[in-house]
Amino acid sequence: MPAYDYACNSCGKSSSLFYKSYAAYDAARAGGITCPHCGSSDIVRVIVGVTLAKPSADRSYKKMTSGEMLNVLESGKAGEVNEMVRQVTETAKDIPTTPTP
Ligand SMILES: [Zn+2]
Repeated sequence: MPAYDYACNSCGKSSSLFYKSYAAYDAARAGGITCPHCGSSDIVRVIVGVTLAKPSADRSYKKMTSGEMLNVLESGKAGEVNEMVRQVTETAKDIPTTPTP
């Protein structure tokens, strides 16, 4: 489940937004993401705690933070992205979904 941190340039507050899928995230982005606090569209995505682990045989994407996952996604390495999505979707079955506000 993708999660992104945003900082609002209008009210200065930060927010974490969760999406049920990358498709939902794309749809939200296409429609314009707004600040949950003040409704401003002047918000920027913040990437926190980015520490990309060195590739290894026992690399587990399940333990990654959303920022790290984002890094993998934006690295454009199809093999890594596919493996990450596979692992994360496996995990997601065990996690109760929380409704998006
Ligand atoms: Zn705001």
